[in-house]
Amino acid sequence: MNPFLLRNIIFPLYHRMTGSGVMGRVRELRRNQWLSRDEILALQKKKLCLLLRHAFENVPFYRERFTAAGLSVSDLDDPAAISCLPLLTKKEINEHQQIMLAENKAGGRLIANSTSGSTGEALRFFTDMRSTACRRAVAIRNQEWLGVKLGDPQASLWGAAMDIKKLANIRGRVHRWFNNYIILSSYNLDPSSLREYIVQLNRFAPVLLTSYPGPIAELAGFMLSQGFQVPSVKAIISSAETLYPWQKEIVERAFSCPVYNRYGCREFGDIAHECERREGLHVNVDRCLVEILDPWGQACAPRVSGEIVVTDLDNYGMPLIRYRIGDRGKFSDRSCSCGRGLPLMEEIEGRTLDVIRAPNGSALGGTFWTLLFRSRPGIQSFQVVQEEIGGIIVKYVPDQSAADGFLEYFTEKIQEKCGHDFRVDFQPVERIEQTVSGKTRFIISKLGNGPDAVEEKATQKGIKG
Ligand SMILES: [Zn+2]
Repeated sequence: MNPFLLRNIIFPLYHRMTGSGVMGRVRELRRNQWLSRDEILALQKKKLCLLLRHAFENVPFYRERFTAAGLSVSDLDDPAAISCLPLLTKKEINEHQQIMLAENKAGGRLIANSTSGSTGEALRFFTDMRSTACRRAVAIRNQEWLGVKLGDPQASLWGAAMDIKKLANIRGRVHRWFNNYIILSSYNLDPSSLREYIVQLNRFAPVLLTSYPGPIAELAGFMLSQGFQVPSVKAIISSAETLYPWQKEIVERAFSCPVYNRYGCREFGDIAHECERREGLHVNVDRCLVEILDPWGQACAPRVSGEIVVTDLDNYGMPLIRYRIGDRGKFSDRSCSCGRGLPLMEEIEGRTLDVIRAPNGSALGGTFWTLLFRSRPGIQSFQVVQEEIGGIIVKYVPDQSAADGFLEYFTEKIQEKCGHDFRVDFQPVERIEQTVSGKTRFIISKLGNGPDAVEEKATQKGIKG
């Protein structure tokens, strides 16, 4: 498909015929990005007040919440009123589905959506037509930052079975054709499928490649070891998991192009995205409100890490207000040299529950483990599993260049942090298993009623998506 034809004729025509409203949103978002910080935040506040008022007037679940918080409709002209609302959990959404839908059917037809549970409890929710168009439009804007134009060929190395299944039916094929897009499954990354993927990529010649960090790093490692190249790729988006520096390095070396970080999820689409300068992730504040909160529910200062809570400013059909997404991150106190007014997030630290705990009070997140196992040869890839507080199992794929005593060295380093009684069992494996949604989890904590219990059950029942 010719990108020029697609960009200028077919894509706009397709969206005009379907009445999606995507092109209008794209134009609006392109303008917004160059507003000053104050102007764009004023726009966000206006959208927030409209949403809060709509939720009060039309959504029984929120009407009850606002009333319980002592708020009346007139209070909602102040965007700060949102801080009086309790945070929203996945469990609450699942339990109160019907009363969370707008009675006046604002936003148009509802589209059912769900998450697999790999990032916590599985969630069933709805997005309306308007927010679906906004999500699509914001993704187009964010990709333009990387020099990827509407209509340019794109590929994904993706694991969400739901997306793959959706794109396999006739409607999905039409969608892929109109969007000049192919999807490759990240489930089976053995040498023969990796070789086949490289052939497919070179045939299709995508400009943009989107993936989870784990699978793209695996593909990149294979390309480097076998001398393969995919020269058409000009930008890579890494999404859905924490991107570690060693992964970024290997991917950029294999593809000879930059890797950009995207923070998004199925519930909201793209929340924040790096631009061409890569000085942080620009928050799409004209699409959603991101709050970063301390354990007492107060807003964290820039550069202070806290829990990420998100409000979708466009989904009127089933408003998600102050939703606990389950990740931690921090805002930046800097502005990006690109000149866009959209504020920056410094980093996304991953899931709030991706932490190994020890009886001495230590809580060690992903960064500790990746830095440790990269600090000397011996371990190619790993997964730390905690089933009880007193110890961990480290599953690892051995590295041929390991020197004697590397496991003792790692054990000693872990016990320095977690106490000398802390048990560390190393288990060599051939490969690290992926989750039901095709992601690679470096840390799995099964302490308490953590979300991993849900993922585990989903695996046992063979639930996909
Ligand atoms: Zn920028």
